[in-house]
Amino acid sequence: DVVVRFCPSPTGTPHVGLIRTALFNWAYARHHGGKLVFRIEDTDAARDSQESYVQLLDAMRWLGIDWDEGVETGGPHAPYRQSQRGDVYAGIIERLKDAGHLYESFATPEEMEQRNRDAGRDPRQGYDNFERDLTSEQREALRAEGRTPSLRLRVPDEDLSFDDLVRGEITFPAGSFTDFVVVRPNGAPLYTFVNPVDDALMGITHVLRGEDLLSSTPRQIALYRALADIGVVSAIPRFGHLPYVMGDGNRKLSKRDPQSNLFLLREAGFIPEGLLNYLSLLGWSISHDRDVFTRDELIAAFDVEDVNPNPSRFDAKKAESINGDHVRLLAADDFAARLEPYLGRVFGGPPSDEERALLAKAAPLVQERMQLIGQAEDMLGFLFLDDEDIHHDADAVAGLGDDAHAALEASRRALAELETFDAASIEQVLREVLVEGLGIKPRFAFTPLRVAVTGRRVSPPLFESLELLGRASTLARIDRLAA
Ligand code: GLU
Repeated sequence: DVVVRFCPSPTGTPHVGLIRTALFNWAYARHHGGKLVFRIEDTDAARDSQESYVQLLDAMRWLGIDWDEGVETGGPHAPYRQSQRGDVYAGIIERLKDAGHLYESFATPEEMEQRNRDAGRDPRQGYDNFERDLTSEQREALRAEGRTPSLRLRVPDEDLSFDDLVRGEITFPAGSFTDFVVVRPNGAPLYTFVNPVDDALMGITHVLRGEDLLSSTPRQIALYRALADIGVVSAIPRFGHLPYVMGDGNRKLSKRDPQSNLFLLREAGFIPEGLLNYLSLLGWSISHDRDVFTRDELIAAFDVEDVNPNPSRFDAKKAESINGDHVRLLAADDFAARLEPYLGRVFGGPPSDEERALLAKAAPLVQERMQLIGQAEDMLGFLFLDDEDIHHDADAVAGLGDDAHAALEASRRALAELETFDAASIEQVLREVLVEGLGIKPRFAFTPLRVAVTGRRVSPPLFESLELLGRASTLARIDRLAA
């Protein structure tokens, strides 16, 4: 049975690389009918924050990445925040120590450097395992000097190999690293310890995580072997290291890049369906000729063996276009409801019944052309604003031709007299008056009116917009621009 995990450290705002990792674990679990464990690795009190924790939950829920076991939901291995698991770690540390897998290390960094110098090695070469077999007398003597030891893992003297699910066979030859510290002198276990210990205790079968963690994998496998030896775990999980996500200019996308910030993307108007789809393309593809698919299709098709080991690139344009495809797939009422939060500023609060009804009629005018639903305010705001609050974009006004004034006047007269103020009649009369009457080319004929009513040169279909806006506002806005 497949058991995977997502185990972020709650620092900073969720970014696309991190969420891509969550997504691949989730898709893998769902594809195989397995489980996703959501654990929080909050062992760094100086950097971890509750705010970031809350944001992680928000991000997961917004995207619909659900988990079977973990924070908030609970489960057989609770608690799922490492900051609350101190007793669990203390017990494992004792057992590993008793079995001889961990030993006390007293040497200071200066002493290690000196040892390397004395032996003619590079002083920065690190630790040389020399305390592996200190006698209890030697340890007592060092304690008597006032030293407190850290604990190191006795690393097996052999090659460490694993078959990476993304990258294939990877071997770290014997001696690639020496016995490393797993518990600090103050008793606090390090990431390299708690991460595999929890994976072991929680029955994780597949560790899918970012490529940046590849170098810690052989150490974790060494620890796993020790855990197997004391009977904590029976099998070492499979590992799969997911490719880096690059930004513009082929730099690694950094947490600080605005386009990597999940909440900025949401604010801009990505919908979860679209972003989920795009994020899954960061290192994976469903087929060579298709990149728009639903979450069910993702689940049905996803396998980690198909992940491409080469760096992937976050392409904002492509992300937006895929989002637009998902926007078009929404049912009309669903689409309209999702626009509401983006129109909050125009509504000045939650929408009234009247505003909601108008939005339901207006939404279909823009659904086909909206890539990001954050464009709602730009595209539809004019329908909800008071006539006095329409701001006529200066460039748009300046760009109007010499015949603009005449066009507005003629439009005003015709619209004031129009019997039925609906889109078809509006179109008919305006064509008569402007194109046939004044002889303005159709391409230019309606621009002055569009600018007058919406404030801008680009808007949803004009005649439908005027119908929705109503005659009184239409005329008032023409007067404001003409004045
Ligand atoms: N807490 C680690 C991180 O956020 C998790 C690494 C892992 O997946 O093993 O980098």
